[in-house]
Amino acid sequence: MENKHTFSIGGVHPDDSKLSKDCPVEVLPLPETVYVSMAQHLGAPANPVVAPGDRVKAGQVIAEPAGFISAFVHSPVSGTVKSVGPRADLAGNKVNHIEIAVEGDEWAEGIDLSPELVTAIPEDSAFILERIKSCGVVGLGGATFPTHVKLSPPPGKTAEYLIINGAECEPYLTSDYRIMLERSKEILVGAALMKKVLGNPRCVIGIEDNKPEAIAVMTESLLSLQEESKDFAGIEVLSLRKKYPQGGEKQLIDAVTGRQVKSLGLPIDVGAVVQNVATTLAVYEAVQKNKPLVTNVLTVTGDCLPAQRQHNYLFRIGVPLRFIAEQAGGVPEEAAKIISGGPMMGKAIANLDATTVKGSSSLLYLTDAQTRRQPEGPCIRCGRCADACPMGLEPFLLKRLADAGDTRQLEDNAVQDCIECGCCLYSCPARIPLLDVIRIAKGDVMRIIKSRPRK
Ligand code: SF4
Ligand code: SF4
Repeated sequence: MENKHTFSIGGVHPDDSKLSKDCPVEVLPLPETVYVSMAQHLGAPANPVVAPGDRVKAGQVIAEPAGFISAFVHSPVSGTVKSVGPRADLAGNKVNHIEIAVEGDEWAEGIDLSPELVTAIPEDSAFILERIKSCGVVGLGGATFPTHVKLSPPPGKTAEYLIINGAECEPYLTSDYRIMLERSKEILVGAALMKKVLGNPRCVIGIEDNKPEAIAVMTESLLSLQEESKDFAGIEVLSLRKKYPQGGEKQLIDAVTGRQVKSLGLPIDVGAVVQNVATTLAVYEAVQKNKPLVTNVLTVTGDCLPAQRQHNYLFRIGVPLRFIAEQAGGVPEEAAKIISGGPMMGKAIANLDATTVKGSSSLLYLTDAQTRRQPEGPCIRCGRCADACPMGLEPFLLKRLADAGDTRQLEDNAVQDCIECGCCLYSCPARIPLLDVIRIAKGDVMRIIKSRPRK
């Protein structure tokens, strides 16, 4: 019988190319120097609280939040602070970084690094939330929104659903898959902790059905935890029919609850809070182990890499991407482009000397044949882009309005709702660069919307 659980509008079916899915997570060695970005999260960059010459331990606070939407940053290593100042990020933009020379691997007091599983859920929700905040946990599914803010619904709004995103719908990426196989119980404890903070809503862990092993392992671990404690009641694992972009927040909410988030609306408007599985693991480590978010898992992959050079690495934040590429055998000659993230929504890496951040998920090597732009043809009005758009937009029309610079009509036609998923581009037989044009037009319209006085 066909799996009914998926989102209702649009979507596409790219080959999933999970080439590194059978590669267990390996611990990446430490480099000689790390460069820790102050802009590891959505919102205001953090303010450094260390200076050159300071000795730091791993897990020690090195920067504090600079506003309500901001987050703590901790040292990923022990060593000596060498400098604090601007340095180029992935895209080549200058961002404040703290440079630390690595010396040994000494962790700050009070952090439990033992592998022992801690399943008891603390009684005090405020304590759980405070740990999530003080450990600098942010969303690791792409947006890097501070998690403690997302777990604090505004007055008058209640979470009816906590949805844990295990979809990992982007082709090639396998880090979420591997942690679901290798750290399933920790993830489930993380889910129970967030469920407690939100007042015990229904909790659904959504996993696409191209990952049957992850569905089986998570289900088995859940049953065993449910036998042990009532804290795990009301949690379920749901198999979702594979379709891109299932991991988009609005699409996942639709797939799990059948509810639609309105234009410019938030998940909590329909009673949902969505957290990624890697974030959920970080919540476990923060609350049960007092371990700040200084590690994550990243996939090194691409069709031009042989099987033995595909990897999933447990990395520390601040490690230069070039160091990771070297550990994995160097950048392959056939690589024409390196992407951070998946091929559909990831960002091209303009600077391999940039460093990992909390939300880093991959080094994806694409070949010339995979990235070469095909000559663009005229729009044949086939409507495939509109059929594929998961936000119900008309990409061919948005492109025409963007070419004409008509921001009013662009707003009337909801360009601001574009989630930049690339489904339109993927489905266009005329190879029109719809996403590039629509993304710029969306930026222009969002600036206009934000400049209006609030009602
Ligand atoms: S990139 Fe935007 S316009 Fe294109 S399919 Fe996705 S949501 Fe629709
Ligand atoms: S898919 Fe391409 S060719 Fe077809 S309507 Fe959309 S823009 Fe035009």
